[in-house]
Order: sequence, then C-alpha cells, then structure tokens
Amino acid sequence: MSKRINLEEAGALLLGASSLILCCHVSPDCDTLGSALGLLRFLEQQGKDVKLLVDDVINSSFSFLPGVEKVIRPEEGQEYSADLFVVLDASSWDRIGCCNQVVKYNKLLNIDHHISNTEFAEYLYLDAKAAATGEIMVDLFEACHWEFDKAMAECFYTAISTDCGSFRYSNTTPKTMRQAAKLLEAGVNPNEISEKLGLNSVASMQLLAKVIPTMTFAYDGRVAYMKLCNELYNKQTSTETFVNMVRYIEGVDVGIFFKEVEPGVTRVSMRTCKADAAAVAVQFNGGGHVRAAGCTVNAPLDEAIAQVLEAVGKQLS
Ligand code: AMP
Ligand code: MN
Ligand code: MN
Repeated sequence: MSKRINLEEAGALLLGASSLILCCHVSPDCDTLGSALGLLRFLEQQGKDVKLLVDDVINSSFSFLPGVEKVIRPEEGQEYSADLFVVLDASSWDRIGCCNQVVKYNKLLNIDHHISNTEFAEYLYLDAKAAATGEIMVDLFEACHWEFDKAMAECFYTAISTDCGSFRYSNTTPKTMRQAAKLLEAGVNPNEISEKLGLNSVASMQLLAKVIPTMTFAYDGRVAYMKLCNELYNKQTSTETFVNMVRYIEGVDVGIFFKEVEPGVTRVSMRTCKADAAAVAVQFNGGGHVRAAGCTVNAPLDEAIAQVLEAVGKQLS
C-alpha cells in the first residue's frame, strides 16, 4: 500500500530532492512523455540534477515534444541513482521496463490517473478522474504556485490532448478543458499540436491497409477486432491509432486491436462504449481505464484473441 499524498506534498517531495530521476511507462505515449518532459524542464530550471529514463524506443512522430532529445534509454546492468525516483502515468512497477532495476533511490513517488493503479510506490498521488497525467501536472503547478513556460505548456497540452482524444472521450471533464485553457493562455497553439499528433507516416497507413481486412465481428456485432501478425509487425511503424478503426462502429461496444509483438507475445488494446475494459485487462495483468485499457498476453496471436474474447464475453453479459 502506498501513502496517499496531496499535490502540495508531492510538490514538497519534488523540490526537497536535490537529485531526481523521472521515468515513463514502456510503449510511451504522449501523456507519459509530455508529463515527464514538462516536469523535467521545470526541475532543471530549479537547478535540480534531474534525468528522464524511458526503457523503450520513442516513436519518431513524438520528436516535436520539447526536450525529447534528453530522454535516456537505460540498459540492464547499468546503475542510476537519485534522492527521488518519480514514475509518471504508470500504474504498476512492471510497466517501466528495466527502470525498476537500474534506479537506486531513497524515495519513490508515483503520479498517475489509472484506476487500476497497484500502489507499488511509497508515495502516490492518484487521481482517477483526471483525463491524463498531464492534467494532474497542471493541478500540481497550480497547487504549488509554480509557473510553466510555453515549452512546458506544450508538453502538458500534448499529454492531455492525447489521452482524451482531443477532448472527445468520456474522460474529458469541464476541468480537463479549464486546465487545457490555461495552457493555451501560456502560449500553446492547439492547431500546431494537433497537426503533429495527427500526422501519420506512410508506412503506418500502408500497414493499416493490411490490417483493416482482418476486421472481425463477434458477440452479435457487439465486439469488433483487428489483428496484426508478427511477420508484418515492425516496432518502428506506429499502430497507436489503429484501435480507433474498431472503436466507433454502429452496435459495437468493445473494439480491440491485437498485435503479435514477438512470436508468442500479443499486445492487446481495448476501447469500449459501455463495458469495463480495465476489468478485462487486469485479468491478463494489464490495466488502464474503464473505456481504454491494454494488456500483453503470452500467447500466439489467435490463441490470445480466443482468450481475450472469452473474457470480454463474460464482461458483456
Ligand atoms: P493502449 O491501448 O496501449 O493505448 O492503452 C490504453 C490504456 O491502458 C492506457 O492508459 C495505458 O496506459 C493502459 N495500459 C495499456 N497496457 C497496459 C498494461 N499492460 N498495464 C497497465 N496499463 C496498461
Ligand atoms: Mn500512458
Ligand atoms: Mn495517461
């Protein structure tokens, strides 16, 4: 169990440390990266010795994020140490790759918004109502009377906008929009960020053209899914938006995208209108939110599909 702290206490922990290591979850999205990069920039300006570790490749389409070139990819066997280790937007200790081994720290702080948070950290600030960890960052800055510059605001805006589907998903609240508005006041141009976030690579679209024909419906059309076999999978080609193709279809409650990322290892992305996606994902040691969740199943593609569909079926009835 973690000690639940408030934003002022989180701020005091951050400013009380002279050295910090920040860390994002694996398969980093713009919420975990934007939150970490904005905070990194602020802490650097406070004169802190601060590093950002991410145990994964970073999608080249995120290269517009201010400071992304500072991200360090750690390797097993290396050692990093700091007073405070800060894990952002990750709900469990096994979501940060080898960062859970290479970092030596005195205190561990987790800032997160996943309902499935496993309370792995000594100190936890969890707000499952926040649309994004980026929204919590704006709350934090406000609670602590810290000011963000334009680059930090761009990081946090990108974080928020990513996780709420550009303010379209059900996690978007009046507060999400108010916090985003403050970022616009700090100079963010939302069109610039949307254009960068929405830009698809040619390779990604060519891959999508191969994935769409796999679209299959199950449970009387309440479930729609697509799949990507390992032979066609390429880590460099983004598939992040593919699940959206099965998300909004008449009669569909659950949209799922399956990709075999290694032979016998299948990554699952789920989006729902009514069913509890997180409840399904946690059965496979994954997690997420009620309407968007993910997990990794240690089984070949079609076997993983059968297992997940069975669990989804139980969730539907
Ligand atoms: P994705 O389908 O990868 O976009 O993930 C949807 C949501 O579920 C995001 O909030 C992820 O952080 C979360 N999520 C995905 N995979 C996992 C996992 N293996 N464990 C915990 N949370 C996950
Ligand atoms: Mn995330
Ligand atoms: Mn998030």
